[in-house]
Order: sequence, then structure tokens, then C-alpha cells
Amino acid sequence: MKLEILGCHGPYAGRPGEATSGYLVRYGNTRLVADLGSGTLARLLDSVTPDKIDGIFLSHLHYDHTSDMLTLKYALENTPIVIDVFAAEQKTNWYLELLNSKNFNIVPIATETQYKCGDLKLVFFKVEHPVETYAVKIKGDKTLFYTGDTVYFEGLEKAAEGADVILADCAKPDYFRGPHMVKRDALKLVRATGAKLIVTHIASGYDAKTLYADIPEAEIAEEGKVYEL
Ligand SMILES: [Zn+2]
Repeated sequence: MKLEILGCHGPYAGRPGEATSGYLVRYGNTRLVADLGSGTLARLLDSVTPDKIDGIFLSHLHYDHTSDMLTLKYALENTPIVIDVFAAEQKTNWYLELLNSKNFNIVPIATETQYKCGDLKLVFFKVEHPVETYAVKIKGDKTLFYTGDTVYFEGLEKAAEGADVILADCAKPDYFRGPHMVKRDALKLVRATGAKLIVTHIASGYDAKTLYADIPEAEIAEEGKVYEL
């Protein structure tokens, strides 16, 4: 099972070549996309042709996790391709704008429900962020837990239980107050689960590499990098 980082910045990419949240999971012939933020589509299409994408999971509908879904609609519009999109149902104009397409088959998700995507099993968990947001446990020959955007809360450790690798929104220092995890939270999560940590949602103004310099086993996500899980 492999994880490719299509984009790891948030809430915006501040430099040429950077992109916001987007990840590609490969397992056998299965290709699952988790979030598709700004600047991620080109990297995705460089790695996989659209007809080979089995599903797209959207953790939540903030722009930095979804905006390239809009241009993906253009990439698909003259094709018969239909891709399953796992997303929480919303009655908002943005939800319709983003997901209304003959090329998307929307699969509404709910917390602690299990779905299949090709050969992968997916379990979604509601997390805590200003909008409805889900983490996902992705099971192939390994188990990857992607936190989506969230603060630390009771229940997150249980949701991440059994993960080999946790891809976590935790690139903020402990003094940060906002809707994301800080380093202390990520270390708690890793200690409780024994999982390997990949730090993501890198924000301009915070140097994640320096922040985690004393934890050499923590990986800091890098765009274009492929991790063998
Ligand atoms: Zn967010």
C-alpha cells in the first residue's frame, strides 16, 4: 500500500509548486484519492489516468481540500467516466457547485460506517472542525488513518486504533489556538496507537521541520513524495 502526497499545505499554498491538501492511496489496482485541494489535480493526473480512479474521499468541503474538484469536472466532462465521491451530504450551494456532475457518483457518508472502494475498506469518523468533517481509516494490507482537519478530542485515539500510519493535521506548535491539532496532540495520538506519524496541513508561517526536529521518526509530508506504508 502506498501513499502519495499530492498536496500538503493549508489553508493555502504560498509558493510556486506547492499545493493544498490532496493524497493518493494505491493498493493493488485500487486508487483512492483523499481530498483534492488547489494545485493537486495536475499531480494526480501525472500519476493516474482518471478512468483508473476508484473513488475520491472528501474529508470536508473547505476550499483547501476540495477546490480542484471543480477543474476535475472539466477534465471528465467529455468522458463516460463516473467516479464514486465519498462525502457528507449538505444542503448548501457550495456542495452543489462542487459536486453536481454526471461524472460523480456521490456516496453520502456517516460516522463509523464502513464502505468499500475497490480492494480498500474505508471507515469514516466524524471529527471536530468548524464544518462537518470526517477522518478516514483506510485498510488494505496496512491501515492508514487520515485525520482530515481536526482538533484533538476524546475519541480520536479510539478512531485511529489499529493504524500503522497516521497522516495527521498537526503542523502547528503547542501555543497555536485554532481548529487544527498541535504537536503535543499528535504525539499523544502516536503514543496511544503506536503508529508512524506523517505530519501534514503545513501552514505558511509555521516551520514544521523545525517544530518536529526533536522527533526524527516523524515524517513531514512533502509534495510528490510516495510513502511505502
Ligand atoms: Zn478545514
